[in-house]
Amino acid sequence: MESMPHPYESEWKTAIDAVILASKICRSVQTSIADDRMEKADHSPVTIADYASQAVICKTLRDVFPDDPIVAEEDAADLRTNENRESLLKTLREVQAAEIQADSEDVLHWIDLGNHQGTASRFWTLDPIDGTKGFLRKEQFAVSLALIVDGTIQVAALACPNLAAIDAWDNAKGVVFSAVRGQGAKLFPIDLPDVTPHAVRVSGTGKAPMARFCESVESGHSSHSDSARIAEKLGIREPPVRLDSQAKYGIVARGQADIYLRLPTRKNYAEKIWDHAGGVLVVEEAGGRVTDIDGQPLDFSQGATLAKNRGVVVTNGLLHDQVVSAVQSEFQPPE
Ligand code: AMP
Ligand code: MG
Repeated sequence: MESMPHPYESEWKTAIDAVILASKICRSVQTSIADDRMEKADHSPVTIADYASQAVICKTLRDVFPDDPIVAEEDAADLRTNENRESLLKTLREVQAAEIQADSEDVLHWIDLGNHQGTASRFWTLDPIDGTKGFLRKEQFAVSLALIVDGTIQVAALACPNLAAIDAWDNAKGVVFSAVRGQGAKLFPIDLPDVTPHAVRVSGTGKAPMARFCESVESGHSSHSDSARIAEKLGIREPPVRLDSQAKYGIVARGQADIYLRLPTRKNYAEKIWDHAGGVLVVEEAGGRVTDIDGQPLDFSQGATLAKNRGVVVTNGLLHDQVVSAVQSEFQPPE
């Protein structure tokens, strides 16, 4: 007997198609950034990839789900100015190179479809390039898309175009994690979209000293000194793996790391929903747990930010209570 289609089948497929399309644009822009320009203040290539990624994903969602609002990181205000005319044209060329018919007005309009504030009962949230700094360094970045319904993440597609497929497919570079609530998490190589995806499962590490933990490359996004103290408290000797973007959720989901800590560096910073929603569902559906540093569930019903939460703790589930206790005893949130 054929298995029943799940309730979010169409959303899941559309989200995967959208992040793959956007990832191809991001890769093309990333290869065209000359090494000597990467760390300069001129962020135009990044902006172009951000904008083009957001444009094609919003357009894809609009075509299939015309009534769904989108909460995305970028808006087109800067691109509309005369001084950024060249960036707009470059963005348009990237969109057209992805075989999408468009003019400049279409591109601006599609980007601005992402202007919703997260007040609807059902909406998408999108980070067109998560981990911009990793993107610039030609390291890890992600394209993250999730559907939130009544404050619950139901569908996630998380493309990590520079993350290797570890377990199969000859270390193919670039993977897509996806999940539908209640249906598990899956993974396939980004360049092999027709293969049968593999199920994604967190590690079985139950002993904290054996745990591998990961964190942001940027100490401004998560306190490295505090995580080092927490790791010491847990008896972990191995240094953390540092990588940009929601690829961190991906490596916990597939059991390559056991813990991901995001410890606030500023008093009133509220995490953005697009920096987490995709990754959170992938980890939860892979059997892991995600809370804030106080052990509370992340509350996706507060609009564009996680206004009710501080920081994020991600684990394989088995280690969660121990890790939250260590955070509680060792971490003093910034005043
Ligand atoms: P990561 O790649 O894990 O360092 O995270 C990148 C994301 O960090 C960006 O998309 C920003 O939205 C977010 N971010 C910016 N400032 C902060 C901050 N002070 N604390 C936490 N996250 C931040
Ligand atoms: Mg981001």
